[in-house]
Formats: sequence, C-alpha cells, structure tokens
Amino acid sequence: MLFTEGAPIKDTRVPSGPIEERWDRRRFEARLVNPANRRRLTIIVVGTGLAGASAAATLGEAGYRVRSYCYQDSPRRAHSIAAQGGINAAKNYRNDGDSVHRLFYDTVKGGDFRSRESNVHRLAQVSVEIIDQCVAQGVPFTREYGGLLDNRSFGGAQVSRTFYARGQTGQQLLLGAYQALERQVAAGTVAAFTRHEMLDLVVVDGRARGIVVRDLVTGEVTTDLADAVVLATGGYGNVFFLSTNAKGCNVTATWRAHRRGALFANPCFTQIHPTCIPQSGPHQSKLTLMSESLRNDGRVWVPLRAGDGRAPGDIPEAERDYYLERMYPAFGNLVPRDIASRAAKNVCDDGRGWGLEGSVSTSTSRTPSRGWDGRRSRSATGTCSRCTSASPARTPTRYRCASTRRCTTRWAACGSTTTCARRSPACS
Ligand SMILES: Cc1cc2nc3c(=O)[nH]c(=O)nc-3n(C[C@H](O)[C@H](O)[C@H](O)COP(=O)(O)OP(=O)(O)OC[C@H]3O[C@@H](n4cnc5c(N)ncnc54)[C@H](O)[C@@H]3O)c2cc1C
Repeated sequence: MLFTEGAPIKDTRVPSGPIEERWDRRRFEARLVNPANRRRLTIIVVGTGLAGASAAATLGEAGYRVRSYCYQDSPRRAHSIAAQGGINAAKNYRNDGDSVHRLFYDTVKGGDFRSRESNVHRLAQVSVEIIDQCVAQGVPFTREYGGLLDNRSFGGAQVSRTFYARGQTGQQLLLGAYQALERQVAAGTVAAFTRHEMLDLVVVDGRARGIVVRDLVTGEVTTDLADAVVLATGGYGNVFFLSTNAKGCNVTATWRAHRRGALFANPCFTQIHPTCIPQSGPHQSKLTLMSESLRNDGRVWVPLRAGDGRAPGDIPEAERDYYLERMYPAFGNLVPRDIASRAAKNVCDDGRGWGLEGSVSTSTSRTPSRGWDGRRSRSATGTCSRCTSASPARTPTRYRCASTRRCTTRWAACGSTTTCARRSPACS
C-alpha cells in the first residue's frame, strides 16, 4: 500500500501542546490496565534484540504473560549484538553545553528533518535515565580512570555525549537486556521460544491476534494466539548486496505483516556509514563496520593528487587532503554520517580514493599524535587489525561507505499501534 499525500494516515494522532510536555501528558492520558487484569492478558513479542528483549522483559515485569520468539539459537544472538559505537544521552557530564533540547535538535537535524519530532523529544528526555538504568542492569559502560562514566563525541554533534562499552556497546547492552529477559523467564512471566521463525501474522477483526511460526529444528508449523502482538524484528540489510548487517536481517516478519495490511513506513530510510572496512574477498556475506569512534580521534583523508598510487603510509602530511576538516571546519571529521559518506564518494569520484572497489572506496588515517586513545578504541582497533592485518594505530587504514541501518518498519501511530491496516492496529 503506498502513501499518497493527504491520505488520512498523515494524521499520526501525535500529542498536541508544547513539545516538552507532549509525551508526559500523553502518558498521563493513556488508558491503563490495572495489575490484576494484566495477568489475564497474553502478549507475543517477536524479536529479542534490544527492542524485543527490553519490551518482553518490561511487559513481563509489569505482570503480562509474555511469549517471546526469535529465530536465533539464543536471544543473545540478535543483530543488536553488532552495534559498536555507543548510545547518546544528554547528561552533560562534560559541561560542554549539552541539554535535552540540544540532543533533540541534533537528532532531528541528523535524521534529515524526517523524524517525528514529539518522539525524538521523548527519546532525548529518556536518554538521561537510560544510561543509569543500563548501569543498574549491569551494562559495563567504559569509565574514566577515576571511576566515572566516560563518553566520547560522535558524528553530527559538537558535544561529547556518547556513552559506550569499548567498541561493543550493542553486545553489552544486549547482554543486559537478555539478563532482564531471563529474569522474567525464571519468574515465569515470559516463555521464550528460540529457533522459531514467524511465518505469518494472524489478524482478527483488524487486530493482530497471533502468529504462525515454524520450529526451525523440527520443521513443525504452529499457531500461537494472544491479545496483542509486538513485532520487534529489526531492519532490512539484504537490499544492499553487502552491508554491515547479517543475511538474516531479511525483513520477512515486517513483510508478512505488510501482506496482512500493516503499512510500511519509510523502507528507503537507510543510513550509510562512512567507516567500513572494504570487502576483502568473495567469501564475505557482510561487511565489518569500524566504530565511528575511529572518526572522532582519527582524521579522514585522501591524497591531494588524483591517481596517486603510493601506499597511504608513504604519503607525507603535506600531500594529504583532510577533506572533511577543510569542507566543514566546525564539525571536522565528525560531520553527520550521510554528509561524510557523500563527501567520500565525491573525492573518490575525483579519482583520489584508494580503490579496490572503484569509486566507493575511500581512505582514512588515524594520526597517533592527535588525541589517539588506544584504551577506549581497543576492541575496534582489534577488529580492524584482524580484518586488515594492520593496526589502525600505526598504519593509515582504508575505509569505504556501507549501508548500516535501515528503518524498514511498520507504520506506527501514536498510542503504540501500527496500521495492520489503518484499517487497524497490530501492536508494535
Ligand atoms: C554494525 C552496526 C553498528 C551499529 N552501531 C550502533 C551504535 O553505535 N549505536 C546505536 O544506537 N545503534 C547502532 N546500530 C543500530 C542498532 O544496532 C540497531 O538499530 C538495533 O540494535 C536494532 O535492534 P532491534 O531490536 O530492532 O533488531 P535486532 O537486534 O536486529 O533484532 C531482531 C530480532 O527479531 C528476530 N526476528 C526477525 N525476523 C524474525 C522472524 N521472521 N521470526 C522470528 N524472529 C524474527 C530476530 O531473531 C532478532 O531476535 C548499529 C547497527 C549495526 C549493524
């Protein structure tokens, strides 16, 4: 189903009033389910990534009967495990001018002004608490020498607000969410079904009431019914031949919900990441991302001269073009990812990339003398060394742009309902 301008779906029932108050008011006005009634309601949650595992654990804790599904052999193997860089929070620990409003502003801008602003503001508001919640759940965020939580700067921001766990933040967050999920499994509120693939959505009177699943071990196909269904099944990677996503990120669950009437939201919303290790051979089914943290201390450059055939390490400083610093002096290497990627494409099109892969290759270098902090980038540099047989701390490393995130989502209206037709809702 295609969206046409002016169609009723444009009305997202977004809360009205000053943006700072919208979600708080909405939360107050939402109809509640009392704790005794929650025990009578069953909710299916498909997906055990950061979204699904957190949703299932939270719903279980709230008292609902939850049935959690994923196709991996463990919830811990959801693709959220791949996230490296970190999580933004407007805590202003550095006293560098950060605030909820600035995070809101940067996020709306970084999202190319396409995001729903009320939701983004909510995200900025809760960012302040989420770090503490994750710490309480046991997520080992990197700390400074004195023991306080560390943070670093990322693309699209002029403040330092990214909290991280070395270069494996997603993995650590997922372990935290998994522990919360397993606690509910032990408490009996969540029943977990791994190695089960959702094949179809069951829709009754326009509402999602269940799923059809295949047991990937026995092949048995069964139906599971519930009062509501949450699809937290991740994004789509395979539209690009190689991306930083596993081949399993195949969007089938979302597609099947779409076939049952749910509207697709923005399937073309793709984030291109500027620092990805180039493909090394035909054996690869995915690409390896290098955390953006390597852009924050490192410097992105290409040779000044087109067709320069020298190895990156042989090119002296004076013959390098630090093009992001030249073009965007205020943000330098930390311009937003789309801008960095576009600039990389342009300099490669000028013939100045090191191209095993033609015009999409670009090269970056880390200069150890300039703010290099091996401690906080250790796992990222380790990954890079394993993939390229060279340490980015010592040798300039080639990077290319690659698709990283796709927001291949079902359309969700305020009130947490998707359009399993605007003809009406499947919960999501
Ligand atoms: C390399 C990389 C680095 C990233 N770095 C960052 C970062 O630094 N900071 C950041 O904020 N974000 C980062 N991201 C993005 C972030 O990791 C994802 O947006 C987020 O983890 C997605 O979580 P999710 O729970 O929606 O999906 P996923 O973690 O992909 O989970 C999807 C779940 O759905 C299940 N599923 C899917 N289809 C079916 C089906 N048909 N039947 C049953 N189960 C199904 C899967 O089994 C899985 O459990 C990065 C992404 C990548 C790829």
